[in-house]
Amino acid sequence: MKTLDGEFIYEMDSSHEPVLEIDPGETVKVETLDAFGGQIKSKNDTLADLDMAKVNPATGPIYINSAKPGDILAVEIKDIEVKSPGVQGIVPGFGFLSNQYDEPLVTIHEITEAGINFGDLVLPIQPMIGTIGVAPEGEGVPCNTPGKHGGNLDTPDVRAGVTLLLPVFHEGGLFSLGDGHALQGDGEVCGVSIEVATSTTLKIESREKSIPTPMIDSEEEFITLGSAEQLEDAGRIALKAMIAHIVEETSLSSVEAYKLCSVASDLKVSQVVNPLKTVRVSISKDYL
Ligand code: CA
Ligand code: CA
Repeated sequence: MKTLDGEFIYEMDSSHEPVLEIDPGETVKVETLDAFGGQIKSKNDTLADLDMAKVNPATGPIYINSAKPGDILAVEIKDIEVKSPGVQGIVPGFGFLSNQYDEPLVTIHEITEAGINFGDLVLPIQPMIGTIGVAPEGEGVPCNTPGKHGGNLDTPDVRAGVTLLLPVFHEGGLFSLGDGHALQGDGEVCGVSIEVATSTTLKIESREKSIPTPMIDSEEEFITLGSAEQLEDAGRIALKAMIAHIVEETSLSSVEAYKLCSVASDLKVSQVVNPLKTVRVSISKDYL
């Protein structure tokens, strides 16, 4: 198994030279930093001292030998090992209620086998990857922003056991990931999850098929993701992609698929805090 450590980017961009090349179907273990770039180690480290140029690192990019523009990159997430401690807090000017909660605050959360220490509570560990994507079409996109290329999707379903499907825009895909969360709720309302460094194991291949937006293939569900400035627009991107997927997978017409979504799919908010918001639509595989 190949490993990748210590190579970071802060923007997903086709101009970046790949730091690892793999063959399709190869497994790779990637070390990722937390979203603060590992700059916060104790509650005495303040956000005021944060070097913003080192926030939101992604490890990569990885070149996948078979991937060509117009393909899908299929990223099977085999394992996400989270490292203790996790960091949370309030970043002034960031968060869904940033005008109400604007005092900087850093909290450090020990993570043990029992769970995440959160004051008097012990929360379950549900590891996920917040930022994961390929080099976008055209201009580079900062790692704090989601889009058609993936990026800062902050979607709890991006967890071990699923396959994330991403559109490929450039030869080799130029894939990277970072921003692990030990736990995140839908919305990620204060803008910060239990931010952790991870060792993430992935099996990556490409498929000769096109998709308009990132999708997740899990054992139970198929999920489409949309990102836009407004939640409604993000929801429409995800819903249109789901209708197209249902039409492709079943004998239903487009309007029948739309009606099926109204009764059998769930439209859920992934995050409301990034430069573009992310919404997902999920449907049970029983209906496909
Ligand atoms: Ca994030
Ligand atoms: Ca994060």
